Amino acid sequence: MRSTVRQVFSQENIEYTAAIPYEACRVVRPYLVERLGFAPRTAILFLVPYYAGQAENLSCYAAARDYHLYMRNLFARICPTLSQASGYSFAGFADHSPIDERHAATIAGLGMRGENGLLIHPRYGSFVFIGELLTDAPPALLGGQEPIAPAPCCGCGACHTACPSGFLRGEGEGCLSAITQKKGELTEREQQLVLTGGSVWGCDVCQAVCPHNAIAMREESYTPIPFFRQDRITRLTEEALAAMPEEAFALRAFSFRGRAPLARNLQLFSTYSRK
Ligand code: SF4
Ligand code: SF4
Repeated sequence: MRSTVRQVFSQENIEYTAAIPYEACRVVRPYLVERLGFAPRTAILFLVPYYAGQAENLSCYAAARDYHLYMRNLFARICPTLSQASGYSFAGFADHSPIDERHAATIAGLGMRGENGLLIHPRYGSFVFIGELLTDAPPALLGGQEPIAPAPCCGCGACHTACPSGFLRGEGEGCLSAITQKKGELTEREQQLVLTGGSVWGCDVCQAVCPHNAIAMREESYTPIPFFRQDRITRLTEEALAAMPEEAFALRAFSFRGRAPLARNLQLFSTYSRK
């Protein structure tokens, strides 16, 4: 069973997986567990690397199409395959998960806990999406390991110093990533922060300065998963946003807030550049 799981993930170019007993996980959305129709015994955590170079004015996770779409399609492929091969049930989650994913991935040994709040993998750094399969198969069948104590990052403090909004220093208006995604008008201070950050969606500053991401940002560490290498937007413009058909817009991670926050931020940059 363990080798089948490895093979299934390997066919998807997903290299880093780890199984832990479900009882070691922190359940944060119990209603999702109740809907499963089976009692989970094992959580298989896996990392989906997405880095394929920086984007000019978008957080690099948002340069490719929406990872929720990727995960949905991935689960539709691998869960039935694993169920048929084993006779057990499998259900996949990412982001909206029954468990605290970052905690589960760190105790499964998939990475360190960064002071910027992100999981950091030795090769792919913090440029990873965390996904998990819950199954009623027992941990022993899946090579399940005992959870380990979460390992901290080196604590260099570079992310604290560089954080443009002061969020990591416990100051200011909140994380700049959230500010760029905010609906409605921005305050003057928020506008200044967006202009300083240089991004119309998200903020990568604490990832860009993290020494543990140096290897991840080399070309040889770019994601091996075609979905995240193709159809990337590395610079969004007002014209491109206005011309983007609704179906294409809906495929993007930034679509869940609608077009208005992006249009407002883009306009902010063009107004500033004319001054
Ligand atoms: S994403 Fe940007 S604003 Fe948010 S914590 Fe990181 S550096 Fe600070
Ligand atoms: S920049 Fe330094 S303190 Fe911040 S997450 Fe990376 S290693 Fe940790």
